[in-house]
Amino acid sequence: MGKPTGFMEFLREVANEVAPADRIRNWDEFHLHMPEENLQTQGARCMDCGTPFCHTGMEMNRAASGCPINNLIPEWNDLIYRGRWKDALDRLHKTNNFPEFTGRVCPAPCEGACVLGIIEPPVTIKNIEYSIAEKGWEAGWITPTPPS
Ligand code: SF4
Repeated sequence: MGKPTGFMEFLREVANEVAPADRIRNWDEFHLHMPEENLQTQGARCMDCGTPFCHTGMEMNRAASGCPINNLIPEWNDLIYRGRWKDALDRLHKTNNFPEFTGRVCPAPCEGACVLGIIEPPVTIKNIEYSIAEKGWEAGWITPTPPS
């Protein structure tokens, strides 16, 4: 798991975004980068729950709860905490071919299902997912597949 006491020590922190009124003026990236150490701290907040509701997508009262594609969220939270970005990307790709898309557009029912959310703001799962994909592109671990 991340840091065993991380959820008690660290507050939730998400990356800043360009304001909607400004981002419509161009096609530039509007997700602003968060420093790596801050992301590691956010990964440390994950409790590696015995029953990780974040990971298990299901419908409850006609609403989605948890990840519909069963991303291995606790595992990559822990890998990020330990600075093992390439391993985190590999783990993310086991269930998700396009984390660079889902990290941007998914409404993140995983965060709504996060057990930590019962007593504190939930783990920043979406931002961590997006950042793993970004790191993968920057490091050249993700390469576009040419059409066959
Ligand atoms: S529910 Fe939240 S705290 Fe628990 S494993 Fe998932 S992300 Fe971590």
